[in-house]
Amino acid sequence: MIEQQQTYRVGDAVVTRIPELLLHDFKTTGLIPDWQPEAAEPQTAWMVPGCLDEACTHVVVSTHSWLVRTPGHTIIVDTAVGNGKTRAIPAFDHLQEPYLQRLAAAGVTPDMVDCVLLTHLHSDHVGWNTRIADGRWVPTFPNARYVMARLEQERLAGIMEKDGPDAPKTAFYADSVLPVIQAGQASFLEPEGGEPLEGFTFYPTPGHSTNHMSIGLRSGDGYGFFAGDVMHHPIQIYRPEWSSVFSEAPERGRTSRDWALNHMADTNALVFSSHFPGSSAGRVARTEIGFGWTFA
Ligand SMILES: [Zn+2]
Repeated sequence: MIEQQQTYRVGDAVVTRIPELLLHDFKTTGLIPDWQPEAAEPQTAWMVPGCLDEACTHVVVSTHSWLVRTPGHTIIVDTAVGNGKTRAIPAFDHLQEPYLQRLAAAGVTPDMVDCVLLTHLHSDHVGWNTRIADGRWVPTFPNARYVMARLEQERLAGIMEKDGPDAPKTAFYADSVLPVIQAGQASFLEPEGGEPLEGFTFYPTPGHSTNHMSIGLRSGDGYGFFAGDVMHHPIQIYRPEWSSVFSEAPERGRTSRDWALNHMADTNALVFSSHFPGSSAGRVARTEIGFGWTFA
């Protein structure tokens, strides 16, 4: 069944989440090694059961894309895990999810998408870049320009050259990024970020990955912020010192998280997260003890 999809307005832009997976089997400390039940306890009243299970031992994690429609463009921010891909993480291996049907339910077919914006190149953010056709991986969105950080692409290309295309670290690059480049549809961002599409600004927020970027969307009076993997779970708004296990450089990631939290609060941004469960969207506000989160 394809459920009703919630939409958000950011100025003239309309933002819709395209869901993929909702994972319930991540242990709290499996996602965030520093997680301490006592320190999380003040937030459990609202986190259970949507973000944390009743026993407070497992977190809920979503994978999804954000569809953004502006008067001139149809954009996808991050492309989740994808179907039919060989992945070391069992929950991501050979998925068969009705992602494209969910996109269709939002009124969009793949040929309508003219831009794909990628916060970073990890397997759970680039999967629907491609789909299988006649035994080959081809761009899912044939008319789209795929925007990605040059440094991340170069790093992965280097690893693939050394380890080969089937190595667990680079299989996703070989099947989900390289075909887009070979099709001439990739466009690369320099490390300082920039505005590859009017209204969309990439801000470097490294740490989770080499050249991870978060994306601000300015439209009319509205401001939206696609945080990417600066955070994986809402608890990190209250405990920004807690890094996820997936962070490549936790110290840099912490600095980026602090910057992003201040930026989101200062701009009163409508925040579109990469992995929060529930609606995955909300706002960050300052509190007496730091920052707080409200789902939208
Ligand atoms: Zn991720």
